[in-house]
Amino acid sequence: MSAAVPLARGDGGCRELPVLRERGQREVFCGLTGIVWLHRKIQDAFFLVVGSRTCAHLLQSAAGVMIFAEPRFATAILQDRDLAGMADCNDELDRIVHQLLSRRPDIELLFLVGSCPSEVIKLDLAKAAERLSAAQRGRVRVLHYSGSGIETTFTQGEDRCLEALVSELPPLAAGQRSLLVVGTLAEVVEDQLSRLFAELGIGPVHFLPPRRARALPPVGPGSSFLLAQPFLGETARALAGRGATPLVAPFPFGVEGTLGWLRAAAEAWGVPRERLEAVTAPAVARAERGLARQRERLAGRRITFLPDSQLEIPLARFLQRECGMELVEVGVPYLDRRVVGAELELLPPGVRLSEGQDVDRQLDRLRADRPDLTVCGLGLANPLEAEGLRTKWSIELVFSPIHGFEQAADLAELFARPLDRRERLAV
Ligand code: SF4
Repeated sequence: MSAAVPLARGDGGCRELPVLRERGQREVFCGLTGIVWLHRKIQDAFFLVVGSRTCAHLLQSAAGVMIFAEPRFATAILQDRDLAGMADCNDELDRIVHQLLSRRPDIELLFLVGSCPSEVIKLDLAKAAERLSAAQRGRVRVLHYSGSGIETTFTQGEDRCLEALVSELPPLAAGQRSLLVVGTLAEVVEDQLSRLFAELGIGPVHFLPPRRARALPPVGPGSSFLLAQPFLGETARALAGRGATPLVAPFPFGVEGTLGWLRAAAEAWGVPRERLEAVTAPAVARAERGLARQRERLAGRRITFLPDSQLEIPLARFLQRECGMELVEVGVPYLDRRVVGAELELLPPGVRLSEGQDVDRQLDRLRADRPDLTVCGLGLANPLEAEGLRTKWSIELVFSPIHGFEQAADLAELFARPLDRRERLAV
């Protein structure tokens, strides 16, 4: 049975937007998916999924069947074995890990990633990580987190991974301060943001995750942090637990989001508003020129977001305020007001916001609404296209460089393209 509570009032936070809460069958990838982008980012890390053949298939297909000479992820398949007991299971895992690490001396950090099968759930991966780390005598750090579909959706895998990393971060020296940017970003975006922070005189700036596991950023009471992704609530809590201060801001999508995000850091560092305006003016002007072209294609178009990646709220805000789109429904897998509070302030009054999913009810609403564009997971896109609805895969938004001023027009274009394609097909 699933329960939908129509228009239940929000439970606190910056703004009391009504929220439609649903708890039914959902169509979302599990947190293992995060490995697809995390393994590219942390170049000396390895992700070993402790799971089943299903997990191995998911990773292969989500990663686009990438066959590397030296892959940085794999699946240790425990499900199909004849398990005499948990001791055997642990021995088997230890054997696989030792084999992997002796073959791959380049690995500095190994994540054991938990999954759904009951054999895996029974395994104590925390203990296994401790045991394996001790056996490596500091040569390789072994951490663990869960990417199980029972506990995580799509982008929560990154949250769990970074949360596990937080406990490993070295302490920031007393009396020092630093800015930590949290969330996987394309390197080109990181470099652009680093330049902006440097011009503003904000620093030192560190990124989590880092490009190399041996260069973990320090954290402590002198750290302030900015989330770059809206699905990192647990990581934020873990950082606060290490004494770091969260900077409240919208997410760096579009001109408004990026400016608001930079402004939060500028205020914390005492940078005058005029300096922020002067430093960002050229990039803002370029982004606005690019956006003006996209706005012509998007203005007045109606869009629905089905709950998938957690990026829905900031992207909806960007498309409505900077591209003139009309929001029909904005669905999120879960609503974390501490993380998206500043975004909720910017949504139009009366927007239909839904949390969780009851896929059949949601599809009924979608068919009644018939928006011009629906942003959804891969599983729903093809059937909806077959019904004549235009779709955009939300997973593409996680893989593409979409943060910051320089990417604002490209981000808008990602939504304009499927609309154009359909129009070209219709002539
Ligand atoms: Fe499927 Fe669970 Fe493995 Fe994800 S973790 S692929 S949901 S079995």
